[in-house]
Amino acid sequence: MEKLKSIDIPFDIHKIRAEFPILQTEVHGHPLVYLDNAATTQKPQVVIDSLVEYYTQYNSNVHRGVHHLSQLATDGFEAARRTAQQYINAGSESEIIFTKGTTDGINLVAQSFAKAFLKPGDSIIISAMEHHSNIVPWQIVCQQYGAELKVIPMDENGELILSEYDKLLNDRVRLVSLPYVSNSLGTVNPVDLIIEKAHKSDIPVLLDSAQAIQHLPIDVQKLDVDFLVFSSHKVFGPTGMGILYGKEKWLDLMPPYQGGGEMIKTVTFEKTTYNELPFKFEAGTPHIEGAIGLDAALKYTQSIGLENIQKYEALLYQYAIEQLSTIDSLRFIGQAKHRAGAVSMMVGDIHPFDMGEILDKLGIAVRTGHHCTEPVMNFFKIPGTIRASFSFYNTFEEVDRLVTGIKRAKAMLS
Ligand code: PLP
Repeated sequence: MEKLKSIDIPFDIHKIRAEFPILQTEVHGHPLVYLDNAATTQKPQVVIDSLVEYYTQYNSNVHRGVHHLSQLATDGFEAARRTAQQYINAGSESEIIFTKGTTDGINLVAQSFAKAFLKPGDSIIISAMEHHSNIVPWQIVCQQYGAELKVIPMDENGELILSEYDKLLNDRVRLVSLPYVSNSLGTVNPVDLIIEKAHKSDIPVLLDSAQAIQHLPIDVQKLDVDFLVFSSHKVFGPTGMGILYGKEKWLDLMPPYQGGGEMIKTVTFEKTTYNELPFKFEAGTPHIEGAIGLDAALKYTQSIGLENIQKYEALLYQYAIEQLSTIDSLRFIGQAKHRAGAVSMMVGDIHPFDMGEILDKLGIAVRTGHHCTEPVMNFFKIPGTIRASFSFYNTFEEVDRLVTGIKRAKAMLS
Protein backbone atom coordinates (compact mmCIF):
# COMPACT_ATOMS: atom_id res chain seq x y z
CA MET A 1 0.00 0.00 0.00
CA GLU A 2 3.01 2.30 0.61
CA LYS A 3 3.50 2.16 -3.15
CA LEU A 4 0.00 3.47 -3.70
CA LYS A 5 0.80 6.55 -1.67
CA SER A 6 3.33 7.77 -4.18
CA ILE A 7 1.96 6.52 -7.50
CA ASP A 8 -1.39 6.36 -9.20
CA ILE A 9 -2.67 9.57 -7.64
CA PRO A 10 -4.25 11.43 -10.52
CA PHE A 11 -3.87 14.97 -9.12
CA ASP A 12 -1.70 17.12 -6.91
CA ILE A 13 -3.26 16.55 -3.51
CA HIS A 14 -1.16 19.29 -1.84
CA LYS A 15 -2.30 21.87 -4.37
CA ILE A 16 -5.90 20.76 -3.89
CA ARG A 17 -5.72 20.95 -0.12
CA ALA A 18 -4.27 24.45 -0.32
CA GLU A 19 -7.44 25.53 -2.16
CA PHE A 20 -9.62 24.74 0.90
CA PRO A 21 -8.92 27.34 3.62
CA ILE A 22 -10.56 25.29 6.38
CA LEU A 23 -8.18 22.40 5.78
CA GLN A 24 -5.33 24.64 6.96
CA THR A 25 -6.89 25.14 10.40
CA GLU A 26 -6.30 23.40 13.72
CA VAL A 27 -8.80 21.89 16.15
CA HIS A 28 -7.81 21.49 19.82
CA GLY A 29 -4.20 22.17 18.85
CA HIS A 30 -4.07 19.52 16.10
CA PRO A 31 -4.22 19.99 12.32
CA LEU A 32 -7.83 19.31 11.35
CA VAL A 33 -8.59 15.87 9.91
CA TYR A 34 -12.01 16.35 8.37
CA LEU A 35 -13.74 13.00 7.86
CA ASP A 36 -17.37 14.11 8.03
CA ASN A 37 -17.83 14.68 4.32
CA ALA A 38 -21.07 12.71 4.14
CA ALA A 39 -22.65 15.31 6.44
CA THR A 40 -21.28 18.24 4.49
CA THR A 41 -18.23 18.94 2.34
CA GLN A 42 -15.75 21.80 2.73
CA LYS A 43 -15.68 24.71 0.31
CA PRO A 44 -12.80 25.66 -1.99
CA GLN A 45 -11.74 29.31 -2.21
CA VAL A 46 -13.34 29.70 -5.66
CA VAL A 47 -16.76 28.95 -4.16
CA ILE A 48 -16.22 31.38 -1.27
CA ASP A 49 -15.01 34.02 -3.77
CA SER A 50 -18.07 33.55 -5.98
CA LEU A 51 -20.34 34.41 -3.03
CA VAL A 52 -18.33 37.48 -2.07
CA GLU A 53 -18.28 38.61 -5.71
CA TYR A 54 -22.05 38.28 -5.98
CA TYR A 55 -22.69 40.34 -2.84
CA THR A 56 -20.05 42.96 -3.57
CA GLN A 57 -20.54 43.34 -7.33
CA TYR A 58 -23.99 42.34 -8.56
CA ASN A 59 -26.37 41.58 -5.70
CA SER A 60 -29.85 41.89 -7.18
CA ASN A 61 -33.03 39.89 -7.66
CA VAL A 62 -33.32 37.64 -10.71
CA HIS A 63 -35.64 37.48 -13.73
CA ARG A 64 -37.74 40.55 -12.92
CA GLY A 65 -35.40 43.44 -13.54
CA VAL A 66 -34.27 45.22 -16.67
CA HIS A 67 -31.44 46.98 -14.86
CA HIS A 68 -27.80 45.97 -15.22
CA LEU A 69 -27.33 44.28 -11.83
CA SER A 70 -30.47 42.22 -12.20
CA GLN A 71 -29.33 41.04 -15.60
CA LEU A 72 -25.95 40.00 -14.19
CA ALA A 73 -27.63 38.15 -11.32
CA THR A 74 -30.04 36.44 -13.74
CA ASP A 75 -27.16 35.45 -16.01
CA GLY A 76 -25.24 33.97 -13.07
CA PHE A 77 -28.31 32.16 -11.76
CA GLU A 78 -29.25 30.67 -15.14
CA ALA A 79 -25.62 29.78 -15.89
CA ALA A 80 -25.75 27.60 -12.78
CA ARG A 81 -28.73 25.76 -14.19
CA ARG A 82 -26.80 25.03 -17.40
CA THR A 83 -23.76 23.88 -15.40
CA ALA A 84 -25.93 21.52 -13.35
CA GLN A 85 -27.59 20.28 -16.54
CA GLN A 86 -24.22 19.52 -18.05
CA TYR A 87 -22.84 18.02 -14.82
CA ILE A 88 -25.48 15.27 -14.81
CA ASN A 89 -26.00 15.30 -18.59
CA ALA A 90 -29.68 16.23 -18.51
CA GLY A 91 -31.28 16.66 -21.92
CA SER A 92 -32.70 20.10 -21.27
CA GLU A 93 -32.41 23.07 -18.92
CA SER A 94 -36.12 22.88 -18.20
CA GLU A 95 -35.52 19.57 -16.45
CA ILE A 96 -33.28 21.26 -13.84
CA ILE A 97 -35.18 22.69 -10.87
CA PHE A 98 -33.50 24.60 -8.08
CA THR A 99 -34.50 23.38 -4.63
CA LYS A 100 -33.27 23.87 -1.07
CA GLY A 101 -31.53 20.50 -1.17
CA THR A 102 -32.11 16.76 -1.35
CA THR A 103 -34.83 16.79 1.31
CA ASP A 104 -36.69 19.59 -0.43
CA GLY A 105 -36.39 17.85 -3.80
CA ILE A 106 -37.84 14.60 -2.43
CA ASN A 107 -40.70 16.46 -0.73
CA LEU A 108 -41.42 18.30 -3.97
CA VAL A 109 -41.65 15.09 -5.98
CA ALA A 110 -43.57 13.25 -3.24
CA GLN A 111 -46.24 15.94 -2.91
CA SER A 112 -46.57 16.82 -6.56
CA PHE A 113 -46.28 13.29 -7.99
CA ALA A 114 -48.71 11.89 -5.41
CA LYS A 115 -51.27 14.58 -6.19
CA ALA A 116 -51.16 13.63 -9.85
CA PHE A 117 -50.80 9.85 -9.64
CA LEU A 118 -51.27 8.27 -6.20
CA LYS A 119 -54.58 6.54 -5.47
CA PRO A 120 -55.85 4.40 -2.56
CA GLY A 121 -54.39 0.90 -2.79
CA ASP A 122 -51.31 2.05 -4.74
CA SER A 123 -47.82 1.65 -3.36
CA ILE A 124 -44.45 3.38 -3.30
CA ILE A 125 -41.24 1.36 -2.98
CA ILE A 126 -38.26 2.57 -0.97
CA SER A 127 -35.32 0.61 0.47
CA ALA A 128 -34.09 -0.60 3.86
CA MET A 129 -31.16 1.83 3.79
CA GLU A 130 -32.97 5.13 3.42
CA HIS A 131 -32.01 8.42 4.99
CA HIS A 132 -35.06 9.68 6.91
CA SER A 133 -35.61 12.23 4.17
CA ASN A 134 -36.49 9.44 1.75
CA ILE A 135 -38.87 7.79 4.22
CA VAL A 136 -40.95 10.49 5.88
CA PRO A 137 -42.10 12.41 2.75
CA TRP A 138 -43.41 9.11 1.31
CA GLN A 139 -45.05 8.14 4.59
CA ILE A 140 -46.84 11.49 4.57
CA VAL A 141 -48.21 11.08 1.04
CA CYS A 142 -49.10 7.41 1.60
CA GLN A 143 -51.17 8.51 4.60
CA GLN A 144 -52.72 11.35 2.60
CA TYR A 145 -53.76 9.16 -0.33
CA GLY A 146 -54.35 5.77 1.31
CA ALA A 147 -51.33 4.18 -0.34
CA GLU A 148 -48.81 1.70 1.04
CA LEU A 149 -45.08 2.12 1.58
CA LYS A 150 -43.08 -1.00 0.71
CA VAL A 151 -39.44 -1.60 1.55
CA ILE A 152 -36.76 -3.53 -0.38
CA PRO A 153 -34.95 -5.47 2.36
CA MET A 154 -31.15 -5.71 2.69
CA ASP A 155 -28.79 -8.41 3.90
CA GLU A 156 -26.12 -8.37 6.64
CA ASN A 157 -23.57 -6.92 4.23
CA GLY A 158 -25.78 -3.92 3.60
CA GLU A 159 -26.74 -4.97 0.07
CA LEU A 160 -30.29 -4.79 -1.23
CA ILE A 161 -31.94 -8.18 -1.86
CA LEU A 162 -32.97 -7.82 -5.47
CA SER A 163 -35.01 -11.03 -5.58
CA GLU A 164 -37.25 -9.42 -2.92
CA TYR A 165 -37.42 -6.24 -4.99
CA ASP A 166 -38.70 -8.31 -7.92
CA LYS A 167 -41.51 -9.60 -5.72
CA LEU A 168 -42.57 -6.07 -4.73
CA LEU A 169 -42.95 -4.84 -8.32
CA ASN A 170 -46.53 -5.01 -9.55
CA ASP A 171 -49.06 -2.83 -11.36
CA ARG A 172 -50.07 -0.97 -8.17
CA VAL A 173 -46.56 0.44 -7.68
CA ARG A 174 -46.46 4.10 -8.71
CA LEU A 175 -42.82 4.96 -7.98
CA VAL A 176 -39.51 3.53 -6.69
CA SER A 177 -37.30 5.87 -4.65
CA LEU A 178 -33.90 4.88 -3.28
CA PRO A 179 -30.38 6.12 -2.57
CA TYR A 180 -27.66 5.78 -5.19
CA VAL A 181 -25.13 5.55 -2.32
CA SER A 182 -26.03 4.87 1.32
CA ASN A 183 -24.90 7.57 3.74
CA SER A 184 -24.51 5.22 6.70
CA LEU A 185 -23.19 2.04 5.01
CA GLY A 186 -21.40 3.40 1.96
CA THR A 187 -23.20 0.84 -0.25
CA VAL A 188 -23.32 1.81 -3.93
CA ASN A 189 -26.60 0.34 -5.11
CA PRO A 190 -26.93 -1.37 -8.52
CA VAL A 191 -29.16 1.44 -9.72
CA ASP A 192 -28.98 0.56 -13.44
CA LEU A 193 -30.52 -2.79 -12.71
CA ILE A 194 -33.09 -1.38 -10.29
CA ILE A 195 -34.18 1.23 -12.85
CA GLU A 196 -34.32 -1.33 -15.65
CA LYS A 197 -36.54 -3.65 -13.61
CA ALA A 198 -38.92 -0.80 -12.64
CA HIS A 199 -39.13 0.44 -16.22
CA LYS A 200 -40.18 -3.00 -17.43
CA SER A 201 -43.39 -2.30 -15.49
CA ASP A 202 -43.46 1.40 -16.54
CA ILE A 203 -42.68 2.53 -12.98
CA PRO A 204 -40.59 5.70 -12.62
CA VAL A 205 -37.54 5.82 -10.33
CA LEU A 206 -36.18 8.60 -8.14
CA LEU A 207 -32.51 8.45 -7.15
CA ASP A 208 -31.47 10.16 -3.94
CA SER A 209 -27.98 11.13 -5.04
CA ALA A 210 -26.97 13.10 -1.94
CA GLN A 211 -24.01 10.73 -1.41
CA ALA A 212 -23.24 10.02 -5.05
CA ILE A 213 -22.92 13.46 -6.56
CA GLN A 214 -19.45 14.14 -5.06
CA HIS A 215 -18.04 10.65 -5.67
CA LEU A 216 -19.33 9.24 -8.96
CA PRO A 217 -19.83 10.56 -12.50
CA ILE A 218 -23.60 10.72 -13.08
CA ASP A 219 -25.33 10.65 -16.45
CA VAL A 220 -29.10 10.84 -16.04
CA GLN A 221 -29.75 10.00 -19.68
CA LYS A 222 -27.55 6.92 -19.59
CA LEU A 223 -29.15 5.83 -16.31
CA ASP A 224 -32.53 6.64 -17.84
CA VAL A 225 -33.57 7.75 -14.34
CA ASP A 226 -36.86 9.67 -14.01
CA PHE A 227 -35.98 11.90 -11.03
CA LEU A 228 -32.66 12.61 -9.36
CA VAL A 229 -32.00 14.89 -6.39
CA PHE A 230 -28.90 16.20 -4.66
CA SER A 231 -27.73 18.94 -2.30
CA SER A 232 -25.20 21.59 -3.21
CA HIS A 233 -23.49 21.43 0.20
CA LYS A 234 -22.55 17.77 -0.36
CA VAL A 235 -20.63 18.71 -3.51
CA PHE A 236 -18.51 21.63 -2.19
CA GLY A 237 -21.21 24.28 -2.73
CA PRO A 238 -23.30 26.38 -0.31
CA THR A 239 -26.05 25.06 1.95
CA GLY A 240 -29.74 25.74 1.29
CA MET A 241 -29.41 24.88 -2.39
CA GLY A 242 -30.05 21.71 -4.37
CA ILE A 243 -31.07 20.29 -7.70
CA LEU A 244 -34.04 18.24 -8.74
CA TYR A 245 -33.70 16.65 -12.15
CA GLY A 246 -36.95 15.33 -13.57
CA LYS A 247 -37.82 14.02 -17.01
CA GLU A 248 -39.93 16.62 -18.76
CA LYS A 249 -42.65 14.05 -19.49
CA TRP A 250 -43.23 13.63 -15.72
CA LEU A 251 -42.71 17.24 -14.66
CA ASP A 252 -45.23 18.42 -17.27
CA LEU A 253 -47.89 16.19 -15.75
CA MET A 254 -47.18 17.20 -12.16
CA PRO A 255 -48.88 20.18 -10.47
CA PRO A 256 -46.85 22.97 -8.80
CA TYR A 257 -45.60 22.21 -5.30
CA GLN A 258 -45.85 25.75 -3.99
CA GLY A 259 -47.58 28.91 -5.21
CA GLY A 260 -46.18 32.44 -5.39
CA GLY A 261 -44.13 34.72 -7.61
CA GLU A 262 -41.96 33.30 -10.43
CA MET A 263 -44.08 30.17 -10.88
CA ILE A 264 -46.95 32.00 -12.63
CA LYS A 265 -47.66 33.30 -16.12
CA THR A 266 -50.78 35.34 -15.30
CA VAL A 267 -52.72 35.90 -12.10
CA THR A 268 -56.23 37.26 -11.56
CA PHE A 269 -58.36 36.80 -8.47
CA GLU A 270 -60.35 34.21 -10.39
CA LYS A 271 -57.60 32.19 -12.02
CA THR A 272 -53.84 31.65 -12.29
CA THR A 273 -51.97 30.15 -15.20
CA TYR A 274 -48.68 28.53 -14.31
CA ASN A 275 -45.28 29.28 -15.76
CA GLU A 276 -43.47 26.79 -17.96
CA LEU A 277 -40.77 24.42 -16.72
CA PRO A 278 -38.61 24.76 -14.73
CA PHE A 279 -40.14 27.92 -13.21
CA LYS A 280 -43.45 26.19 -12.45
CA PHE A 281 -41.65 24.55 -9.52
CA GLU A 282 -39.66 27.59 -8.35
CA ALA A 283 -42.03 29.81 -6.34
CA GLY A 284 -40.59 32.96 -4.74
CA THR A 285 -37.19 34.62 -4.81
CA PRO A 286 -34.70 31.79 -5.16
CA HIS A 287 -31.42 31.19 -3.31
CA ILE A 288 -29.49 33.23 -5.88
CA GLU A 289 -26.07 33.15 -4.23
CA GLY A 290 -26.64 29.44 -3.56
CA ALA A 291 -26.95 28.81 -7.28
CA ILE A 292 -23.93 30.98 -8.04
CA GLY A 293 -21.88 29.11 -5.42
CA LEU A 294 -23.08 25.76 -6.74
CA ASP A 295 -22.05 26.80 -10.23
CA ALA A 296 -18.52 27.50 -8.98
CA ALA A 297 -18.47 24.23 -7.00
CA LEU A 298 -19.56 22.06 -9.92
CA LYS A 299 -17.07 23.74 -12.26
CA TYR A 300 -14.33 23.23 -9.68
CA THR A 301 -15.21 19.54 -9.29
CA GLN A 302 -15.30 19.12 -13.07
CA SER A 303 -11.89 20.75 -13.37
CA ILE A 304 -10.48 17.93 -11.20
CA GLY A 305 -12.59 15.34 -13.02
CA LEU A 306 -15.06 12.89 -11.52
CA GLU A 307 -13.12 9.95 -13.00
CA ASN A 308 -9.94 11.16 -11.23
CA ILE A 309 -11.86 11.68 -8.01
CA GLN A 310 -13.39 8.24 -8.23
CA LYS A 311 -10.00 6.64 -8.89
CA TYR A 312 -8.27 8.41 -6.00
CA GLU A 313 -11.09 7.86 -3.54
CA ALA A 314 -11.22 4.14 -4.36
CA LEU A 315 -7.52 3.86 -3.39
CA LEU A 316 -8.05 5.90 -0.25
CA TYR A 317 -11.12 3.87 0.72
CA GLN A 318 -9.30 0.59 0.18
CA TYR A 319 -6.39 1.84 2.29
CA ALA A 320 -8.78 2.93 5.06
CA ILE A 321 -10.47 -0.48 5.15
CA GLU A 322 -7.10 -2.25 5.27
CA GLN A 323 -5.71 -0.07 8.05
CA LEU A 324 -8.89 0.00 10.13
CA SER A 325 -9.03 -3.81 9.89
CA THR A 326 -5.83 -3.97 11.95
CA ILE A 327 -7.72 -2.59 14.97
CA ASP A 328 -8.69 -5.30 17.43
CA SER A 329 -12.45 -5.70 17.97
CA LEU A 330 -13.33 -3.21 15.21
CA ARG A 331 -16.19 -4.37 13.03
CA PHE A 332 -17.51 -2.71 9.94
CA ILE A 333 -21.21 -2.00 9.68
CA GLY A 334 -21.93 -2.51 6.01
CA GLN A 335 -19.58 -4.62 3.92
CA ALA A 336 -21.12 -4.35 0.47
CA LYS A 337 -18.87 -5.31 -2.44
CA HIS A 338 -19.28 -1.90 -4.01
CA ARG A 339 -18.87 0.98 -1.57
CA ALA A 340 -17.94 4.66 -1.70
CA GLY A 341 -17.61 7.64 0.61
CA ALA A 342 -18.53 6.44 4.08
CA VAL A 343 -17.06 3.75 6.33
CA SER A 344 -19.23 2.84 9.33
CA MET A 345 -17.86 0.90 12.28
CA MET A 346 -18.17 -0.14 15.90
CA VAL A 347 -15.23 -0.80 18.20
CA GLY A 348 -16.00 -3.48 20.79
CA ASP A 349 -18.90 -2.26 22.84
CA ILE A 350 -17.60 1.30 23.07
CA HIS A 351 -20.41 3.78 22.52
CA PRO A 352 -19.76 5.62 19.23
CA PHE A 353 -20.37 8.97 20.94
CA ASP A 354 -17.53 8.39 23.45
CA MET A 355 -15.18 7.43 20.64
CA GLY A 356 -16.22 10.50 18.64
CA GLU A 357 -15.51 12.83 21.56
CA ILE A 358 -11.96 11.56 22.02
CA LEU A 359 -11.27 11.71 18.29
CA ASP A 360 -12.48 15.31 18.32
CA LYS A 361 -9.93 16.17 21.02
CA LEU A 362 -7.32 14.80 18.62
CA GLY A 363 -8.54 17.11 15.85
CA ILE A 364 -10.33 14.31 13.96
CA ALA A 365 -13.90 15.08 12.86
CA VAL A 366 -16.02 11.95 12.38
CA ARG A 367 -19.75 11.55 12.86
CA THR A 368 -21.31 9.30 15.44
CA GLY A 369 -24.92 8.21 15.84
CA HIS A 370 -27.65 6.92 13.55
CA HIS A 371 -26.85 9.29 10.66
CA CYS A 372 -30.58 9.89 10.05
CA THR A 373 -30.98 6.19 9.19
CA GLU A 374 -32.62 4.78 12.31
CA PRO A 375 -34.07 1.75 10.47
CA VAL A 376 -30.52 0.78 9.43
CA MET A 377 -29.38 0.91 13.07
CA ASN A 378 -32.43 -1.12 14.12
CA PHE A 379 -31.59 -3.70 11.47
CA PHE A 380 -28.06 -4.14 12.85
CA LYS A 381 -29.36 -3.81 16.45
CA ILE A 382 -26.89 -1.08 17.36
CA PRO A 383 -27.37 2.44 18.79
CA GLY A 384 -25.26 4.01 16.07
CA THR A 385 -21.88 3.85 14.38
CA ILE A 386 -18.65 5.77 14.10
CA ARG A 387 -18.68 7.02 10.53
CA ALA A 388 -15.61 8.28 8.70
CA SER A 389 -16.53 9.71 5.33
CA PHE A 390 -13.96 10.68 2.75
CA SER A 391 -13.47 13.21 0.03
CA PHE A 392 -10.79 13.69 -2.62
CA TYR A 393 -8.97 16.22 -0.41
CA ASN A 394 -8.36 13.60 2.30
CA THR A 395 -4.96 11.91 2.44
CA PHE A 396 -3.46 8.55 3.31
CA GLU A 397 -1.74 10.26 6.26
CA GLU A 398 -5.15 11.34 7.55
CA VAL A 399 -6.29 7.73 7.44
CA ASP A 400 -3.22 6.86 9.52
CA ARG A 401 -4.15 9.56 12.03
CA LEU A 402 -7.70 8.18 12.25
CA VAL A 403 -6.39 4.67 12.92
CA THR A 404 -3.93 5.90 15.56
CA GLY A 405 -6.71 8.02 17.10
CA ILE A 406 -9.11 5.08 17.34
CA LYS A 407 -6.42 2.90 18.90
CA ARG A 408 -5.69 5.58 21.48
CA ALA A 409 -9.35 6.16 22.26
CA LYS A 410 -9.90 2.42 22.55
CA ALA A 411 -7.08 2.12 25.08
CA MET A 412 -8.60 4.95 27.13
CA LEU A 413 -12.17 3.63 26.98
CA SER A 414 -11.68 -0.12 27.32
N1 PLP B 1 -30.25 11.50 1.51
C1 PLP B 1 -29.04 11.07 1.86
C2 PLP B 1 -28.56 9.73 1.38
C3 PLP B 1 -28.24 11.86 2.68
O1 PLP B 1 -27.02 11.44 3.04
C4 PLP B 1 -28.72 13.12 3.11
C5 PLP B 1 -27.92 13.96 4.00
O2 PLP B 1 -27.04 13.50 4.69
C6 PLP B 1 -29.98 13.53 2.68
C7 PLP B 1 -30.72 12.69 1.89
C8 PLP B 1 -30.55 14.85 3.07
O3 PLP B 1 -29.79 15.88 2.53
P1 PLP B 1 -30.10 17.40 2.92
O4 PLP B 1 -30.10 17.44 4.42
O5 PLP B 1 -28.97 18.16 2.32
O6 PLP B 1 -31.42 17.74 2.36
